[in-house]
Amino acid sequence: MASNVRNQSEKIKFVEPQLAPLSPIKTGGSADFLSRPATLDQLKAVVAFAKREGLPITVLGALTNSLVSDRGIEGVAIHTVDLDRIRVQGSLIIAEGGVMMDRLIDEAIEHGLGGLEPLGGLPGTVGGAIYGNSGANGLLTADRLYWIDCLDREGNLIRFRAHPDQFAYRHSPFWGRSDLVIWEAAFKLDPITETNEARQQKEAYKGARREKGQYAHPSIGCIFRNPDGESAGRIIDSLGLKGTAVGGAVISPHHANFIVCEGHGATSNEIASLITLVKGRVEEERGTLLTEEIRYLGRW
Ligand SMILES: Cc1cc2nc3c(=O)[nH]c(=O)nc-3n(C[C@H](O)[C@H](O)[C@H](O)COP(=O)(O)OP(=O)(O)OC[C@H]3O[C@@H](n4cnc5c(N)ncnc54)[C@H](O)[C@@H]3O)c2cc1C
Repeated sequence: MASNVRNQSEKIKFVEPQLAPLSPIKTGGSADFLSRPATLDQLKAVVAFAKREGLPITVLGALTNSLVSDRGIEGVAIHTVDLDRIRVQGSLIIAEGGVMMDRLIDEAIEHGLGGLEPLGGLPGTVGGAIYGNSGANGLLTADRLYWIDCLDREGNLIRFRAHPDQFAYRHSPFWGRSDLVIWEAAFKLDPITETNEARQQKEAYKGARREKGQYAHPSIGCIFRNPDGESAGRIIDSLGLKGTAVGGAVISPHHANFIVCEGHGATSNEIASLITLVKGRVEEERGTLLTEEIRYLGRW
């Protein structure tokens, strides 16, 4: 299907639509159309194509917090990985939506700008981190955000000033909206002279993740949000659910809020069934309703 539309616009870059290869856990079906724009013009062209054809849009970052349906994604999926340019203006570092957060932190330090080090080792893109207001070690993505430029379905670029009131724990004004693509964002950082120190701090945060086994098996990070004042992982662990499996999907032996794929891997359906099982047990035994941090993308 993708090749049929390739000629409609020179600017639209459609690629093979299989989504499993793009996901860290290698699950999920295909998109009806999968595009990988590398410039703002290409991004605008694909958004215009979706509008013209009356198709929904789903934006994909690095898929490190998303579960893609085995039945695939309807309409046009936009994979942002090639939107990966970074520039610096004074104390602002400005990154396109597909820039990996870990690289952004490295480049900020190279330019003598600090403040993002606690997010060292955070997998995923700038767009994904803003969408879910990702955080670690006491720092939320929104804490350093200055403005965000989004493309709407009409092809207009809209600038949002990042206001702390609009963001919360794993929540942003973009949450649940599929009509906006985060094209570019500016982070306001602190000028630093001790770049070696900042680099070491960032690497220490990343190393701590490695030691906790976060990278030992492919995963999509924390499945559940932490309920108020509690840790979802600790609740699941206290019920003895580490190691519980549905097919190839297993509650991680390292971190009870992670699901990892073992053996020959899992399907997204198996992961979703394991999530339902955990939610059921936690509600039954603790009376707490866990809610997902991950996003379900596609035909669920
Ligand atoms: C080992 C591991 C450790 C992790 N540790 C943490 C942690 O410490 N803290 C934390 O908060 N998270 C953590 N995560 C989860 C995840 O890495 C982050 O939430 C990350 O910011 C998601 O980015 P992504 O590009 O992978 O987003 P994706 O999973 O690709 O997308 C997430 C959502 O954002 C939307 N989106 C993505 N890009 C755009 C865009 N440009 N415009 C509009 N919408 C967009 C998608 O449509 C989707 O709804 C971890 C994950 C793993 C695998």
